[in-house]
Amino acid sequence: MGSSSSSYAPRTIYLDVEGKVQKVLFSRHCSPCDIKELLCSSSNIPRRVCFPSDRKSLLSPLTRCLHGLRCLPEITLLLSRAFKIDELKTEVANRLATLEKRVELEGVKVVEIEKCKNDMKKLRDEMTSRGGRVNCPCKYNFSDDGKKLTPRRDVPDYPKYTLSQETIEALKKPTFDVWHWEHNEMLSCLEYMYHDLGLVKEFTINPITLKRWLLAIQENYRSNPFHNFRHCFCVSQMMYGMIHLCNLQDKLTLTDLGMLMTAAICHDLDHPGYNNTYQINARTELAVRYNDISPLENHHCAVAFQILALPECNIFANVDAEAFKQIRQAIITLILATDMARHREILNSFKHRVDNFDFTNEEHVTCLKMVLIKCCDISNEVRPTEVAEPWVDCLLEEYFMQSDREKSEGLPVAPFMDRDKVTKPTAQIGFIKFVLIPMFETVMKLFPQIEEIVVQPLRDSRDHYEELKQIDEAMSEKKKTENMSLGRKKE
Ligand code: 5GP
Ligand code: MN
Repeated sequence: MGSSSSSYAPRTIYLDVEGKVQKVLFSRHCSPCDIKELLCSSSNIPRRVCFPSDRKSLLSPLTRCLHGLRCLPEITLLLSRAFKIDELKTEVANRLATLEKRVELEGVKVVEIEKCKNDMKKLRDEMTSRGGRVNCPCKYNFSDDGKKLTPRRDVPDYPKYTLSQETIEALKKPTFDVWHWEHNEMLSCLEYMYHDLGLVKEFTINPITLKRWLLAIQENYRSNPFHNFRHCFCVSQMMYGMIHLCNLQDKLTLTDLGMLMTAAICHDLDHPGYNNTYQINARTELAVRYNDISPLENHHCAVAFQILALPECNIFANVDAEAFKQIRQAIITLILATDMARHREILNSFKHRVDNFDFTNEEHVTCLKMVLIKCCDISNEVRPTEVAEPWVDCLLEEYFMQSDREKSEGLPVAPFMDRDKVTKPTAQIGFIKFVLIPMFETVMKLFPQIEEIVVQPLRDSRDHYEELKQIDEAMSEKKKTENMSLGRKKE
């Protein structure tokens, strides 16, 4: 193994792959992170390349001279064997071709494009997953010797987007089209929010640390149908929207806003796609670890602080110890408040306070913040129909994945997750009427301005789904009669 000496010429590395010497060229565009990731993370490359001592000898000269560089195609040649990249490429190309055809012929819905993207990400993840990670639920984990693993990509690997004035304005509103953006663009939007709210200044955040923290966050959301990075973005963008709509900048401290935004961004980290009931009934590692008490929310929160424990990702590195203690406590409280099993308890405690609400009372403010993160977490139906509706498909897909698994494992199945019992309208009507509207109407007592922009769309959506339900019922009634008359004819 070796590397050439000029710092601008392509680097050549010789690898021993299953007894055969392979030559790999890296251009000066290849980052040390790319190289580290590509060479060391593949379980198919002989372990001796990956042993810490060898890794050191491989990486240190590269780390020194290849900073900020990008890979040549040659690397794919070598790795096509180890990663089965050719298979991946064919699969991706086939799916894209099918999708393109369907876009042409029938006009594919956003949710299907999203699903296709998710499928492709899953494939890619599968191909690049590393051997040692399997047992740890957190992807951004620590190696056996306790040393941290660096994020897969480093700053500034995602391009700097300059958000147009139009996007900046739209970002503040619940009408923002959350399906329109790729991961990198959503990262830029989140980054913008921290600058715009004054959080970067308030917490003296190093702007590069902010980017790196966001990257680590994005990488630690899995590609579930519903609980994915886009959901994280939706919740955070709604929080940003509520901050503006309710003028929270005048009523809360910047620290409060930082807690709200950070909790929103972290609130579903590393969600496995199966809810607390499944975790508890299946006695998963998470349920055992957290004694059946909000296992998922405890996990999201623990992953959040594992990420913040990495110096290069710690956006709170420059706040003093006492302030960090408070921020940490608040974020824990907020993320734990997103467990829907506590919905009634939290809403009732807010109802008791809302008529005599006191912004100078810390308990009152904490309670309001808990309700705000809950509102944002389940706020899809506040968005315009064409933005909201695909989320119901995503949620049902995740529900069905769970109920199918529960059936096959002989575990109890909740009727609202059962593909034989639930439809889109039935899933939404009850949720909007009995969960969303009562909660948002309580918040409306404190912030009457949300009625037109937030509460009315909920009422409209309820009416829309009630109409759809009637159509569904009429159709199934018609089918029943047709079947009956068919049966009579046969007799
Ligand atoms: P999360 O798991 O996202 O932290 O908590 C929110 C939970 O509320 C979801 O898991 C889901 O069960 C429920 N939920 C959120 N949005 C909707 C919705 O639009 N419709 C229905 N039926 N349930 C929702
Ligand atoms: Mn959520």
